[in-house]
Amino acid sequence: STVYLNGEFMPMDEARISPMDRGFLFGDGIYEVIPSYDGKLVGFGPHIERMNQGMDLIGINFGYSEADWRQVCEALIEKNGAGNLGIYLHVSRGTDSRRHHAYPENVEPTVYAFAFEIPAAPVADREKVKPYKVSSTEDLRWQRCNIKSTALLGNVMHFQQGHAAGHNEIILFNANNEMTEGSACNAYIVKDGVVITPPLDNQILPGITRLMLLDILRKDGSIKVEERIVTMDEVRNADEIWLTSSSKEIAPVTELDGKPVGTGEVGPVWEKAQTLYTAQKYNY
Ligand code: PLP
Repeated sequence: STVYLNGEFMPMDEARISPMDRGFLFGDGIYEVIPSYDGKLVGFGPHIERMNQGMDLIGINFGYSEADWRQVCEALIEKNGAGNLGIYLHVSRGTDSRRHHAYPENVEPTVYAFAFEIPAAPVADREKVKPYKVSSTEDLRWQRCNIKSTALLGNVMHFQQGHAAGHNEIILFNANNEMTEGSACNAYIVKDGVVITPPLDNQILPGITRLMLLDILRKDGSIKVEERIVTMDEVRNADEIWLTSSSKEIAPVTELDGKPVGTGEVGPVWEKAQTLYTAQKYNY
């Protein structure tokens, strides 16, 4: 496939970075994944804004404008067949001559982007969607999960825990037994028709799918939304559980730790929410 590295497009197997790149040595960088279907990007503006905020938070001064990023994304889509593609964007702090913790001065950030295939967006149909089965475990990641850092070992280890148990994802909870998010997605419950998701803080990533979904639901008004602490007792007694991310949109969960969620079937509120999301996702 064709990738983008530091201003140039090239075949992936010709792309080279230094072994002294701080992204490689420290996971010192910020990334994004932007979904696109048939060449149309979803949530492009909010994704770039989050990336800029992440770079600000870790002190990477880097000046691609939204238009610059759009050019990179659109070229990657075109060069890679314009199907169902996730566009991965990555800015690491850059390459230093020594391995020293302090942020080096006068280094050029390394900019890498590539496209990868993602599943087709879910069809908003309770009978046709493939439900998720998930585990749960204590969230043992760091306390800055709001930063979309390339240092993903904590997330990777949690995902693997669920994967090894034969599950699609793993729901995480903090020491107070409050749900945080999934290893690579945001998490929600539905109880008595109300969609409830944890508030944005340092324990979770501010997901763009979450941002768009909550906005769509609030503007539609027919489903009530709450952002508040959700205990694991509430999760275990929920009518529905959902997970969201750019590559999966809204995934309905029908099994948690081997037990059925609600009736054990995909719920009606999910179908309504995915229908609204499908209709409005290109408006962001
Ligand atoms: N939380 C984590 C830890 C993630 O890695 C992701 C995305 O991959 C999300 C939430 C969902 O974010 P988005 O909707 O922007 O893809």
